[in-house]
Amino acid sequence: MEQILSKDESLRQIVRGIKEKGFLFDIAEIDNFLENFEIKYQRLPRLEEIELIVESYIQFKEERKLSTIKNTINEIKKKEETKKSEIIKKEDVKYEFPRNKKIPLGSREREDRILTISKPEGRRNCPICGNSSWFKIHESLDKTHVISTFPRVYGKKYSCSGCGCQWRET
Ligand SMILES: [Zn+2]
Repeated sequence: MEQILSKDESLRQIVRGIKEKGFLFDIAEIDNFLENFEIKYQRLPRLEEIELIVESYIQFKEERKLSTIKNTINEIKKKEETKKSEIIKKEDVKYEFPRNKKIPLGSREREDRILTISKPEGRRNCPICGNSSWFKIHESLDKTHVISTFPRVYGKKYSCSGCGCQWRET
């Protein structure tokens, strides 16, 4: 029957075994392992039992490493899912904006949304469809655009009977 090792000798043998297998170790953890062994068997290990302790320590380390990796993966997944749901929320808002905010025809808001372009130098073309026929481009007073209150001067607006668009020129 093999002799039971001393605590120091056990520690030394376990550390040697772990190093031989090329693993990193934490001396406090190994100490803990030895204590557990002592509680379980009411004695310190024999030399022949060192190998078993080394293997279970390595297994313990590997499992912990694995669970750390799993936790990291889970956290990354969680973050991505929150990001995704945030993007979906933003898209919902974008979608609902025009649906909820209907602008009635002829309202001031509608008038404010008239296209404004800079005055053309040559022929006046429709900025949307490019039409330039004089009978398709109509000029009218823009009563929503007051240039001077006294004497009252309104701006002009133009419309295209080709595509129906309206615009102002600055
Ligand atoms: Zn047009």
